Amino acid sequence: APTGRRHPDWLKVRLAQGPNYNRLKRLLRGMSLHTVCEEARCPNIYECFENLTATFMILGNICTRACRFCAVTTGRPTELDWAEPERVADAVERLGLQHVVVTSVARDDLRDGGAIIFAETVRAIRRRCPDTAVEVLIPDFNGDWDALQVVLDAEPDILNHNVETVRRLSDKVRSRATYDRSLALLAESKRRAPHIKTKSGLMLGLGETWDEILETLRDLRAHQVDIVTIGQYLRPTRDPIHLPVEKYYHPDEFAELKRIGLALGFAHVESGPLVRSSYHAHEQADRARAR
Ligand code: SF4
Ligand code: SF4
Repeated sequence: APTGRRHPDWLKVRLAQGPNYNRLKRLLRGMSLHTVCEEARCPNIYECFENLTATFMILGNICTRACRFCAVTTGRPTELDWAEPERVADAVERLGLQHVVVTSVARDDLRDGGAIIFAETVRAIRRRCPDTAVEVLIPDFNGDWDALQVVLDAEPDILNHNVETVRRLSDKVRSRATYDRSLALLAESKRRAPHIKTKSGLMLGLGETWDEILETLRDLRAHQVDIVTIGQYLRPTRDPIHLPVEKYYHPDEFAELKRIGLALGFAHVESGPLVRSSYHAHEQADRARAR
């Protein structure tokens, strides 16, 4: 393993390339779009592509922030591509995606943090693929709720924003973002657009205690979050910027957290070692919608 430490067996995935996976890979080649699935070398790519789910990263691939768990390059972004929304929608249509997640780097260099491009992307997908569920995974826009409103006005099915970790570790793990501002964003979304499902997630293994995990779940629920994802943190590279894994949680512990989360009242809890923010996104949406 690149971290110099062997991963437990339960983190190994079956590399099964189905027909949809191969078709999506082929189509994506040469479309000049970034997918998190490919660029983050997400271990779930075979399963997600087979289920016609993918996560697009808009607004370029250089981030103004430097979170200590993230492999995206930090720097000064230059890209602002007004044709990107239509290109993403074109890809969604050609790939025949059932569920699409649209996310971005943090663009602290832009006045609206890129909110308008998020909104235009949602609208473009809606126009071409009215039956595709659209989820946005947004940055905190530095607490600019006008920017949030721009995204909400485009009516995504799910508004996702990750707290990433427990309160105590937020300063160490995240760059610029704060625990309270993330909770406030989720509550603000629910207040302004109660019909849009809210979703958040955290990674385990950064040194948090069990009680702190439970506190985070309670905090998310207290801010009316509908869907929560819980997964194992894996160090993306050995670069000292990337924090080491403090603990590998057992699948039983993830299962226990799922039970606890459901008892707290979340509509859907996705909890497992390989769970990522967008893992089984289609099922999360279905279940939350059916509620
Ligand atoms: Fe892509 Fe998310 Fe699935 Fe990973 S979990 S392959 S990033 S959709
Ligand atoms: Fe990565 Fe943090 Fe930038 Fe998001 S804001 S892309 S997690 S560095």
